[in-house]
Amino acid sequence: MQTTILKGKTVSSKIKEGLIDRVKHLKSLDITPGLAAIIIGNNPASELYVSSKAKTFKKMNCFSEIFKLDKDIKQNEIIEFIKRLNKNDKFHGILLQLPLPVHIDENELLNTIDPIKDVDGFHPANLGLLMQGNPNFIPCTPLGCIKILDHYKIKTEKKHVVVVGRSNIVGKPIASLLSQNFNYGNATVTLCHSRTSNLSQFTKQADILIAAVGVPNLIKKNMVREGVVIIDVGINRIEDKDKERGYRIVGDVDFEGMLNHAEAITPVPGGVGVMTVTMLLSNTIDSAFNKIKKMEIK
Ligand code: NDP
Repeated sequence: MQTTILKGKTVSSKIKEGLIDRVKHLKSLDITPGLAAIIIGNNPASELYVSSKAKTFKKMNCFSEIFKLDKDIKQNEIIEFIKRLNKNDKFHGILLQLPLPVHIDENELLNTIDPIKDVDGFHPANLGLLMQGNPNFIPCTPLGCIKILDHYKIKTEKKHVVVVGRSNIVGKPIASLLSQNFNYGNATVTLCHSRTSNLSQFTKQADILIAAVGVPNLIKKNMVREGVVIIDVGINRIEDKDKERGYRIVGDVDFEGMLNHAEAITPVPGGVGVMTVTMLLSNTIDSAFNKIKKMEIK
């Protein structure tokens, strides 16, 4: 079986093409979609993610500003900072780059972001709307996975999707989305996690497997059936002395082992990661449009 490589870059380019005219329209109204990205403390991976998001925004003629806050900043100071951003009209989206230093209460901060600017879709109001079947901002990584499936015409209806990982930002929302009565849903979903006993007995049943774990190469060929479709969300650094930087990036799935076994698979890098940034851009542009609609209603 020849395995199809599900290229995030191809899907992302197509989505961005569609966003060009939307940005032009906003610009004609003197509006530039703007994102405020907050980063707390010194986390090189987070800094890399945020700067790559900023680059994408710039390339698409959108605006972003990175706010780097000190690692020792107090919870109430960040809350006040977010409240100021909520009121700042320059920003249609606010992003809090995770993970946060341990002394910070993540949920309290996420709950402080105005839901209308919550382009990451992590505010309880937006997660609640998603659960109700009436989503507003859908978290970017799950949305990116769905766009990949959609682009490659991989149907989810009547399929058995096995999601490994139950985080608030990936596993839980994607399990919820795919199990609902949406165009891209109607799957039967099994959600696995670190307390799942005998993971393989579930992964072997998957028509579509979504891995969002953070364990390099956890999912091996002998854990999935031939012809499975695999979406690998994992981004893991593993030591590689052959590389100048001393490491390489791999997913949660043994990519090489799946070739000629899976029907289709996303590579890492080059799969879901690029889609996450693209969907952040798309959500921020949507947010700018939502603001115009609100002004028209007034
Ligand atoms: P979390 O650490 O928040 O969640 C990991 C999940 O995996 C948990 O639910 C955990 O279970 C489960 N888990 C851990 N070990 C095992 C195991 N051995 N077997 C089964 N389940 C296990 O991670 P995230 O969801 O934030 O991220 C997951 C991966 O995706 C990471 O590699 C991250 O870098 C990447 N990522 C990639 C993005 C992209 O744009 N491509 C965006 C976001 C994340 P339990 O709940 O029981 O602890």
